Amino acid sequence: MIITKNKVVSVSYVLREGDFGGEVVEQTTSQEPFVFLFGVGSLLPDFENNLLGLKVGDMFKFSIASQNAYGPMESDAIVELPIDIFVIDGAIDYDLLQIGNVVPMRNDQGHLLHGTVVNVTDDVVTMDFNHPMAGKDLYFMGTVLDIREATPTELEHGHVHGPGGHHH
Ligand SMILES: [Zn+2]
Repeated sequence: MIITKNKVVSVSYVLREGDFGGEVVEQTTSQEPFVFLFGVGSLLPDFENNLLGLKVGDMFKFSIASQNAYGPMESDAIVELPIDIFVIDGAIDYDLLQIGNVVPMRNDQGHLLHGTVVNVTDDVVTMDFNHPMAGKDLYFMGTVLDIREATPTELEHGHVHGPGGHHH
């Protein structure tokens, strides 16, 4: 059996930033593999394209350019906010405003966003709302651990059930 549309695929991989020598961003193992339903559009297309046709035991390594992953860094996603909005119980929460901290916030429409604190002055906080992987190329290296047919219910739901998948 090879990886094609509507197969349930288990892989272990190491995701690095940039290339082989890059910082490890994410790691899945044979004990806790990444299990997914192939070809239903829930993953980066380039990720699936690189696994298409592989069989159990095959190893893979490939890069995905940033524009095909989490997109470029957007300069307008870096914003300056008045420090007053970080006042909690009458005081500015400087523990929260450490540079590099990721702070959950809501925008005007009430959507939850995660901003990284870039700079703090007496009255302005600069925050970066880009995805942490924006502007970065991805490098995957891993092994195909298992391939099986999806059940009719999994196909109907569009996701995997059982180990590594959803539980209802
Ligand atoms: Zn389901």
